[in-house]
Amino acid sequence: MNYAAIKTTDVANGTGVRVSLFVSGCRRHCKGCFNSETWDFNFGNLFDDKAMQEILTALDHDYIEGFSLLGGEPFEPENREEVKRILNEVRGRFPNKTIWCYTGNRYENLIDDARDIIELLDVMIDGEFVEEKKNLRLKFRGSENQRIIDVKKSLESGCVIEME
Ligand code: SF4
Repeated sequence: MNYAAIKTTDVANGTGVRVSLFVSGCRRHCKGCFNSETWDFNFGNLFDDKAMQEILTALDHDYIEGFSLLGGEPFEPENREEVKRILNEVRGRFPNKTIWCYTGNRYENLIDDARDIIELLDVMIDGEFVEEKKNLRLKFRGSENQRIIDVKKSLESGCVIEME
């Protein structure tokens, strides 16, 4: 899996100060995508041990609230295995930090075959970016159709529960 960027002090993609990873590869091609260079699976650099270590080192501060995963599309089939490995590593090392993940897919379409990844998340922002529903006042999401999902509550209840 390739990745476009690692941000070590991101305040835009989740609560608090976070470490963010932008993975490469997305077939959705939403009109007005904020990050279209990451559509190419070969964009950026190979995610290697050095990149993993960079993330773990950046997370190891009290002021970092958690880890955010963006794209590109973390749930593209080519990315899932590496994404799961990264999330397991982060979850194992920092069990008290939160993990957020952005996807252009819908929770309902992913839960059956990507449950193992979803179970590693605290929050999922789902849904493709719809330019006609773009709203700059929204927090943590680009368009009104996207949802900020409380993953633990959704898994427990068996239906999608959005954050308040
Ligand atoms: S899913 Fe995300 S990365 Fe993919 S095209 Fe849509 S906005 Fe861009």
